[in-house]
Amino acid sequence: MIQIENLTKIYERNNAPALNGVSFSLPDKGFVFIVGKSGSGKSTLLNLLGGLDNLTAGEIIADGNKFSELSVNGFDNYRNSYVGFIFQDFCLMESLTVRENIELSLNLQNKIDHDRVLEIIKKVDLSGFENRPVKKLSGGQKQRVAIARALIKNPKLILADEPTGNLDSKTSVQILELLKELSRDNLVVIVSHNIADAYKYADRIIEISDGKILQDIENTGESNSLDITKDSITIPYGAVLTEEELSTINTKKRTREIKQHKPRFKDSVQPSSNGEKYVFQRNSIRPMSAMSLSCSFLKKKWLSFVLTAVLVSAILIVLGLCQMFVSYNGQDTIKEAFQNSTDTAFILKKGYLSDDIFKEVKTDKLGRISEDEIQEFYDAGYSGKVYRLNNSTMGPYQSPMEYCRQVNYNENFKNFYARHNLGLLECDMEFLTKIFGNENGEVEVLSGTLDYTTKPYGMILTDYMADSFLYYNKQYMGSVEDPYSRLTGGGRINNRFAVLAVINTNYKTRYKDLIEKYNEYFNAETKIEQERVYNELMSSDMYIDFYNELTQYLSICYSTNPNYRQDAIDNILQSRIVGYFNNLDVYDTNGNLLGEGLNLQCDNVSWAKNEDISRYVELEDNEITLLYTIYNDLFGTNITQEDTSEFEPKTVVFKNYDECREMDDEPLYTKTYTIKKLSMNAGTQSLLSDNEFKFVRQYDVYTHALYFDSPKNCSALYYKIQDTSYYMGSQSYDAIYQVVDIVGIFKEYFGLIVGILSAVGILLLVSFSLGNIRSRRYDIGVLRALGCKSRSLAAMFFVHGILLGIFAAILSVLGIVFLTGVTNTMLIAGFKKYVKSPIIGLIEGIDILVLAPSIIMVDIAMVLGLTVISGIIPIIAINRIKPMKIIRAKE
Ligand code: ADP
Repeated sequence: MIQIENLTKIYERNNAPALNGVSFSLPDKGFVFIVGKSGSGKSTLLNLLGGLDNLTAGEIIADGNKFSELSVNGFDNYRNSYVGFIFQDFCLMESLTVRENIELSLNLQNKIDHDRVLEIIKKVDLSGFENRPVKKLSGGQKQRVAIARALIKNPKLILADEPTGNLDSKTSVQILELLKELSRDNLVVIVSHNIADAYKYADRIIEISDGKILQDIENTGESNSLDITKDSITIPYGAVLTEEELSTINTKKRTREIKQHKPRFKDSVQPSSNGEKYVFQRNSIRPMSAMSLSCSFLKKKWLSFVLTAVLVSAILIVLGLCQMFVSYNGQDTIKEAFQNSTDTAFILKKGYLSDDIFKEVKTDKLGRISEDEIQEFYDAGYSGKVYRLNNSTMGPYQSPMEYCRQVNYNENFKNFYARHNLGLLECDMEFLTKIFGNENGEVEVLSGTLDYTTKPYGMILTDYMADSFLYYNKQYMGSVEDPYSRLTGGGRINNRFAVLAVINTNYKTRYKDLIEKYNEYFNAETKIEQERVYNELMSSDMYIDFYNELTQYLSICYSTNPNYRQDAIDNILQSRIVGYFNNLDVYDTNGNLLGEGLNLQCDNVSWAKNEDISRYVELEDNEITLLYTIYNDLFGTNITQEDTSEFEPKTVVFKNYDECREMDDEPLYTKTYTIKKLSMNAGTQSLLSDNEFKFVRQYDVYTHALYFDSPKNCSALYYKIQDTSYYMGSQSYDAIYQVVDIVGIFKEYFGLIVGILSAVGILLLVSFSLGNIRSRRYDIGVLRALGCKSRSLAAMFFVHGILLGIFAAILSVLGIVFLTGVTNTMLIAGFKKYVKSPIIGLIEGIDILVLAPSIIMVDIAMVLGLTVISGIIPIIAINRIKPMKIIRAKE
């Protein structure tokens, strides 16, 4: 039995209560009509009875179960096992069949009983329609399905809200008859605005007006049919007669007395509780039917499902790639590059860092590499040999063969032969053999000897270097059959440098095609033709190879003499080798700065004595001669070649700085000289004593590049040279350096990208989830009204999220694998373009991004995370919605 005590319901936006302190009790059986005008509160009462909505005040007690004490779960159990609800607009699952709709009611109780389903279908007169989808039924048939659905649970309480409201009168009668029959064993509460029906069928009528009970009457059980006897006609009380009955009465009324049945209704006696408590069954939906429902929900949303999955996986792919950029270890790339290296040496040049924010290494001036710095490389883990490339030159001053810092390859296009050399490498036979050795492992000497003891200050020239020299100094070709012997034969060439040997590098054979191309270029008849050949040349592999070889090995000079530098210095006094005061600041003896950043050349006394007697002056070690114009600049005098009367010997302090001097650098050396005499010949600026000259020359020649003989070992050096003024002489390494740098830039933004993309991912999934639920609000409402647990429903939708996640995970893993390859190819292609200078294929084989299993794991974890986060949403959403509200969504 059901007790209703002081029941009040106030809707949020309405001031007047829809129900206002209603109290009554209902028995276990019978047909109870709730009648009243529209808006009087009938449906509200029914919905509260059905546990579809919250009551504002008062209490409903269903067989000892107080509503105020029921949990959400308790209400689910109540609706599931105690109540069968029949709605005016049927509230069926339109896409399911008759049988499925009815079965669902059982499945929600985790039961299955095919026979009983058929039996019930027969009872509501729907045999033959079992497998018809509900949407193809008439209104009456639908209502019978709804009744069958309520009935199959065998509920104690059947609630029907205007069940005949949408039906024709004939069907209405059938439905009411059916309900009347059910009310013999169950309590059937029906909301109706049809008073006649109430008086005809009801065991009890409760009339409501403005949320209050107007009258509560019950049937006395007396007959109320149209009774015709011999002498009387008794017409029913409060019933509308049919046409047929009216005509019968009309034909028979003349001979009979007309009477009316007494009112069959009297004030209700409220039943009282026997105190027993009914325990609601705790049921959950059958897992199979939950799954099939879940699938049927998804069917309608497949497009949005696929779209969301694709978008989410796109996000995951981007995240995966970002992840790879972040986990990218430049050192690995470097290591790989070094290990792939086919270079003979790893070459580092010392330049200086630019002042701007880019801090790039510039090499238009060269830095000095000290012995300490070389030691640091060993300390950093290098274990091979290091050779020093010095700026000692072979060329006569200001001739086309002078020493130069970098090969300018545009310059080189004026000729195939190098106009410059890049210095002298102090190496050993092992290294020379490694670079230039023939198949027998021998260095072929074309002229001279490799025995350095015969000419310790002589240098070894490559044939290319010798040819270059001869090309620009044709006088040395002479009539001699073998011009190389002119180079190696005598003492010093041009009084300046000595050649020990010319060695064969086979460049003429190896670069035969290139030389031909060069000739084609020089001999081209039109500018357009020349342009074409130029472009062809520049982009050809052989040019790139040649250029690399040129800058690294061909256009440098060699010595295998371990004491080369000292021997060269010891042997310079008889030759015209110039010494330099570079970057010189000049002070007077009081410390006043006289001149800044001067570059002075100097010769030595011994040479001048032998070769240029006009400049010869006897000099002590602390004495110097100075060009008169420089003297003028320093002291503000006006000495001319004609008038030297202003000259007086002065003592000056020279502070000599490195070419790449930085603000707080100490001078390389400080020297005090007395200017003994002026030099009036612009050709030479200063003369120094032999000792002083050697001292200056010692600082002139310095190491500016290092050749590490085992490049495969050099990866450890990479981080050592980052942010220093070292420049990797090999452009291929340089390319890698840039690759590593560029990839590094991505790292900085990763956090931001991850944040934004994760948020977008979650939004997408949530929007899918909510859209999915919204599109199924009605079905969810119906299922909730039937007593389906909200957590079962949430699970049904959560499964969609999981499916989505799995789908997205698979898509994204495939995508990441695919895109890693594509990205690597594109990065390499991009870098090759970006790094404009010719490079050998060193970065070709390198995978910039490495797809580690951890990234796949992270990807999957992300999917799961996103899915769980977004899966919580439907649970919250479904829990928050009262079944009433969801059903209303259809209206
Ligand atoms: P009946 O079923 O007798 O037509 P209802 O129970 O539907 O009456 O409505 C009773 C009163 O409550 C009416 O004034 C109606 O406008 C109001 N009402 C019903 N449902 C809601 C609702 N969900 N929100 C606000 N007011 C409502």
